[in-house]
Amino acid sequence: MNGSTTQAQPPQWSAHASEELYKVKNWGAGFFDVASNGELEVSLRDAATGAPTPVSLASISRRLKAMKIGMPFILRFPDLLARRIEDLHHSFHAAIADHDYGGRYRGVFPIKVNQKQEVIEEIVRFGAPYNYGLEVGSKCELLAALGTIEDFEAHVICNGYKDESYIDLALLAMKTGVDITLVLEMPSELEIILQRAEVIGVSPRLGVRVRLSMKGSGYWGTTSGDTGLFGLNVPQLLNVVDKLKAQGKLGYLKMLHFHQGSQLCELDGIRQAAREAARVYVELHGEGAALEYLNLGGGLAVDYEGTNSNSNGSKDYDLPDYCGALVETVKEVADAAGVPHPNLITESGRGIAAYYSALVFNILDVSEFKIPKISDPFPDYFHPRISEMLEATGRIGSDESIHDHLLSQLLMWRSELQELFSLGELSIRELSTSEQIYREGMTALGAAGHEQAIEARPPIDFLYGNFSVFQSLPDHWALQQIFPVMPIHRLDEFPSRVGIIADLTCDCDGQIKSYVQNEAGSSSLPIHESIAGEDYIFGIFLVGAYQETLGDMHNLFGDTNAVSVEVLDGEVSLELRTEGDTAQEVLGYLDYEHQKLIQNVIRLGTEAELRGDFVAGERERFVGKFADALAGYTYLHSATE
Ligand code: PLP
Repeated sequence: MNGSTTQAQPPQWSAHASEELYKVKNWGAGFFDVASNGELEVSLRDAATGAPTPVSLASISRRLKAMKIGMPFILRFPDLLARRIEDLHHSFHAAIADHDYGGRYRGVFPIKVNQKQEVIEEIVRFGAPYNYGLEVGSKCELLAALGTIEDFEAHVICNGYKDESYIDLALLAMKTGVDITLVLEMPSELEIILQRAEVIGVSPRLGVRVRLSMKGSGYWGTTSGDTGLFGLNVPQLLNVVDKLKAQGKLGYLKMLHFHQGSQLCELDGIRQAAREAARVYVELHGEGAALEYLNLGGGLAVDYEGTNSNSNGSKDYDLPDYCGALVETVKEVADAAGVPHPNLITESGRGIAAYYSALVFNILDVSEFKIPKISDPFPDYFHPRISEMLEATGRIGSDESIHDHLLSQLLMWRSELQELFSLGELSIRELSTSEQIYREGMTALGAAGHEQAIEARPPIDFLYGNFSVFQSLPDHWALQQIFPVMPIHRLDEFPSRVGIIADLTCDCDGQIKSYVQNEAGSSSLPIHESIAGEDYIFGIFLVGAYQETLGDMHNLFGDTNAVSVEVLDGEVSLELRTEGDTAQEVLGYLDYEHQKLIQNVIRLGTEAELRGDFVAGERERFVGKFADALAGYTYLHSATE
């Protein structure tokens, strides 16, 4: 890392001030905190005693470094997964009791949200007391579910388009006692299911996915509505009912399903969709279908931005509101129609898994914008406003009551001088000096604790992080979804600088473009001045849902190391669960044969030796280095390792 000395600490600054600045309480859902020593902590329950135990992420990084486990790594917190599963079930049970609801609640976890075996095994383990099941969207996910599920009371819900072999596998599994429901995504699936069920000799449990007219909110709201890709519209749905009725098999139809979209940020929209689906449910009852389950799909949102609003990266409700709204709405509709309350199922994915993982990476290099010292007095031709600006910044810190006024003056004078420059009435030297004074003024105001100044400081540094946005944060790259990003240590120091985090890929999209700083999201992040020879480590949080399995290998950066963090009898245990990809593995995914690569490198070395360009031993060194790099991690080693 580039080196320089740290700035003097403003007396007002504290770990608590950093907690507010990085909005830890807002997005952390009570799981994350800043300790007074300036280290970010996750609160995990002790697996033996249940006691809440704060665990410093920086101390985990130090231990992993000593264990030679390189950055970047994913930290997984199984306890947070367990707590989200518990919270979901307790909230539904409370809502059912509060509303005197006649049906029961059963959740299923959609495997697509994080397909890693370790995750699915933990979900099944933590969900066992609640008969928590799994949702699959493909044949391969069904294989994962059948290979993991143990509980015959837990639902396995088969969504997604199905061919004969998918259907056969599901029907045979039904015979073993696994509680499988085959959900029709397309009308044509019905015929195949009925035929294969006849051959296999099983009465299938069927569900049907209805395409609601009510569109969802947020990034993924277009899953539903008239143009939504999935499910049957109402005429198709009735056609299925009629066909089953005609064959005397309407009793097979047990479940009505809909999925409005992911990250639904508005409770009103969730309520409206539930009402529409409940209306379809009761009408189908009237048609003679003895449905038992209403499956309300996924969509429970996560407050990534911590704004508690209906913005796309947030949500305007909490978990009890969500459960209460669904239970109450379905009850109202069922009561009005005189139909028994359906058992409720949800397929919440991100709401369960997001908190489970954090990506931790080190900064490899910083491109720091160093401002040369301003030399006063200025040349005669300098505009008088520039001296006025300098004089005003000199008053910062003397009297806090004038800070608001100074801030607006600095902002106003800066744009006035920029305007004069455009009109040709200010030289480039005058503009440069005024810009320096402005930046120093904003930094000084920020150091004095002025929140607006902290946010108004222009970004000046580029931090090169040891990670890939394409591999580890695909939804940020593809959809500009905001994730909480912040340093995990030095939080008791004032972040005197402002920066933008870039990744290792040589791509203009390979950077974090928005940060959790204010309602609108910010294009830069308050950061600390770099210290030569010391690690500067960041975390990206709430990445347990979708990010791990959607990532791609842009620039051939592969999967990262993944470490499970648990507390047992007061001791923090760290277990390397997945080793990050080696270069050879990543190249292998793209069909490179490593023998062929090595042979070519040997040829290059031999020819260089014959030409005399390589001295004795250099060919072996070259080939050795190549082989080492092939066997090594795809990410970079920092100078401090
Ligand atoms: N169910 C279905 C059918 C889905 O397609 C999805 C994902 O979009 C989910 C559940 C999970 O949604 P979420 O992660 O928003 O809860």
